[in-house]
Amino acid sequence: MHTALKAYPFDFKQRSALPRGGAARESHPVVVVGGGVAGLTAALALAAQGVKTVVIEADDTVCYGSRAICISRRSLEIYDRLGVAEALLAVGLPWTGGRSYYRDREVLHFTMPHDQSQKLPPMVNMQQYYLEEALVQACEKAAGTIDLRWNSRVTAVPSNDEQGALLQVESGRDRYEIQADWVIAADGGRSFMREALGLQLKGTAYEGRYVVADIELETDLPTERLAWFDPPSNPGSTILMHKQPDNVWRIDYQLREGEDPEEAVKPENVLPRVKAHLDMIGQTGEWSPLWITIYKANALTLERYLHGSVLFAGDAAHLVPIFGVRGANSAIDDVDNLAWKLAAVLHGKADRALLDSYSEERVFAAHENLKSGMKSTEFMAPPTFAFKLMREAVLSLAGDTPGVRSLINPRQTSAIAYADSSLNAPDSEDAAFRGGPAAGTVLPNAPVVLHAPPRAPLDGHLCDHVPPGRFLILHFAAGQGAPADVADAHARLQREGVDVDLLPVVRGAGAAPQGVHLLDPTGAAFRLYDAEAGATYLVRPDGHVAGRWRSARPDGIVRAATRILHPSNSRTGGQP
Ligand SMILES: Cc1cc2nc3c(=O)[nH]c(=O)nc-3n(C[C@H](O)[C@H](O)[C@H](O)COP(=O)(O)OP(=O)(O)OC[C@H]3O[C@@H](n4cnc5c(N)ncnc54)[C@H](O)[C@@H]3O)c2cc1C
Repeated sequence: MHTALKAYPFDFKQRSALPRGGAARESHPVVVVGGGVAGLTAALALAAQGVKTVVIEADDTVCYGSRAICISRRSLEIYDRLGVAEALLAVGLPWTGGRSYYRDREVLHFTMPHDQSQKLPPMVNMQQYYLEEALVQACEKAAGTIDLRWNSRVTAVPSNDEQGALLQVESGRDRYEIQADWVIAADGGRSFMREALGLQLKGTAYEGRYVVADIELETDLPTERLAWFDPPSNPGSTILMHKQPDNVWRIDYQLREGEDPEEAVKPENVLPRVKAHLDMIGQTGEWSPLWITIYKANALTLERYLHGSVLFAGDAAHLVPIFGVRGANSAIDDVDNLAWKLAAVLHGKADRALLDSYSEERVFAAHENLKSGMKSTEFMAPPTFAFKLMREAVLSLAGDTPGVRSLINPRQTSAIAYADSSLNAPDSEDAAFRGGPAAGTVLPNAPVVLHAPPRAPLDGHLCDHVPPGRFLILHFAAGQGAPADVADAHARLQREGVDVDLLPVVRGAGAAPQGVHLLDPTGAAFRLYDAEAGATYLVRPDGHVAGRWRSARPDGIVRAATRILHPSNSRTGGQP
């Protein structure tokens, strides 16, 4: 249910399907069904690795209405790799924390981890249509590789097995079939692809409903996440407020028990509540409503994301409650995980079995996201009397008892570590790390200087050196470059066709060794990675650690990378 009350302050460019040449059947290596956040990001990530895609999108423009606004640092890191982050940072509003109030009292002021050494803010706010428009423009620039077909809808899946899938597509009066080696089903929460394959999401659907109202309001309130529990303006309710570009504010509030959603969403019922809230926080200037929607939290996922040749991603694969902002952010993570694996399979550099790990890792991530999303939902809208009592106790105590404040913390999305992934090389027992990112964890960022003579030294960050589709051997060196045996491991992998870079990291800002390397001027990278000279990390193309060694183990590095790409050949494991 969605009511637009005013023209959107955004230029929705209508796009149409281009003439297609009229063949009744086409064949393509990869077809993406759905050109939303997941589908467009998948196409860009595959294009960055030279893989052509056809994207079938039912609509003729980017999404309308109240959808995602908070985009996480992890998502920005992924977009940085794909060359889109700059466009997003140009429009988005960065923020680092928020406040919660119980009745009329502030009970929590939280900040997300952030310091000057980070390249990207922990979160930026922007309407989802800004994000999608930036992605569409990037896809249009890659038009030779990405064939984005608007106004086109998949209407049937006559066949699907390990050899490929057949899709029927309708675009106006045009009807045709596409035989695809692989299909990425990114067609959103009501996924036709899911239905066509007879699959069902499993999990919890919550009863509580939220009204989501976006309004235009000119104010100098900062960008932060604001929450009110049981506020005097709307007793019994929970209200969230978020700033977006163009002076648009998102106000969400929970319906009271027994309220009829159809009545509750009518402007004559919504606007007085919004006004009461704005009055309460001293915002008595002009404001105008833009649109109103109603939202119901779901915590659901498919049990596997690979079915025949169809790979599910984003809302088609899982539905995460909005509290904690994990929907679009996890969709972006899904396709980042998928794209390098699918590209490696298509380029003949990995076994098909690598794609099983897409399902394994992202189903695990979905369960982690659902756990956190459910905790947040149960706090925002307690589903039972017991939850309600517990919440009241926590909120009443939080003002004077710092120890309980963490229970109110909204647990915003963060990168998921694939702690038990079958792709991880375990830490070797004789030389365990005391800290630093374990296998499965996303690479933490630190400022470094790239020395690549004869070019001038270049200031940047560690994560800048994980290009799409390439592994990275990060060797923390004593002062000279990588030792001969690590260089030999790198050369062996390259000979085997693995796309892999080797970068020594050297502590200090002074005299640099010869050859390409990263300088760690403050020692921050060494500290973050719990590294001493000789420590080596193998990093996957999606920036997750694949394995690490206290002192370089060339055979371990080669075995770990080979095991990832050819899991079916190397079930034997062996010492890392
Ligand atoms: C009120 C609200 C607030 C939210 N806030 C946040 C937030 O702050 N942060 C966050 O991370 N997430 C948030 N989300 C969730 C986020 O909007 C979704 O998780 C995200 O849009 C999922 O992207 P997707 O690409 O998987 O699906 P969608 O965005 O739904 O895209 C699916 C696409 O597939 C197309 N399609 C559908 N069927 C077909 C077909 N048969 N053939 C071809 N194309 C088809 C559709 O037209 C659509 O473009 C919010 C959601 C809501 C409702």
